[in-house]
This record gives sequence, structure tokens and C-alpha cells, in this order.
Amino acid sequence: MLPFALPCARCGQPAATFALLPAGSGEGMWRDRDRLERTGFLGATLHFGELPALAELMRAIAGRDYAAVRALAGPDLVAFHCWACAADYCEACWRIGPPEFDEDFPSFYDCTEGICPAGHSQVVDD
Ligand SMILES: [Zn+2]
Ligand SMILES: [Zn+2]
Repeated sequence: MLPFALPCARCGQPAATFALLPAGSGEGMWRDRDRLERTGFLGATLHFGELPALAELMRAIAGRDYAAVRALAGPDLVAFHCWACAADYCEACWRIGPPEFDEDFPSFYDCTEGICPAGHSQVVDD
């Protein structure tokens, strides 16, 4: 499956781009593992798994079946998707808050929250 981008519902720019990278393709330290790469939203995120499962995940993302994506891989991979709006927004349209740190262990990164153009707040990086 070729890489594809999902457009932002507000401005039309890509909200995130997804690529299926079989082991041996691409660059970097994870080159020898099958992986799905999300780029263009808060840097790059990798999701590892068996190729058939990653292909299924790619199809679910391309078909915007976010419930299936969440069931297969958790919400982090599609964090650009506002669940309240049922819409995708790019990094520029989300108001991304500062990183939050654990209350008890202040040196531990906890998560980052964002506010969508309609005012919904959601964790966009965990
Ligand atoms: Zn946008
Ligand atoms: Zn929203």
C-alpha cells in the first residue's frame, strides 16, 4: 500500500501522512523491523507489528475507520483525529499545549494536550 495523507478538515493541509515500511526499507535504527510510520503531526511516530496486521491498520486508517484503528493500535496513532468532532485536524489547527509531566515524578513526560478548532480538548501525544 502506498503512503497517503489525510487532509485537515479545517484548512485542507495534510493532517498526517502514513507509510507502511516493511523490514529492509527506509532508513534509521528500526530499518530491520516491519513498521507503520506516521509523519507530519508532532514529529514522527512508529507502530510495530506483523505486516498483515500493519496492512489491516493502514486500510482502517485510509478508510477512516477510527474505531477499528483504536481497537487495533490504541488512540495515539490517530491523535490528530478529534473524537468529539469526528474530524481530522493538522498540527497547526490544533492548539497544542506544552508537554505535561507526571505530578509525582516531575522528570517523567506524561502527555501533551491539544484543543481542536471547535474547542474540544484531547490528549494528542502520550
Ligand atoms: Zn489545518
Ligand atoms: Zn473537536
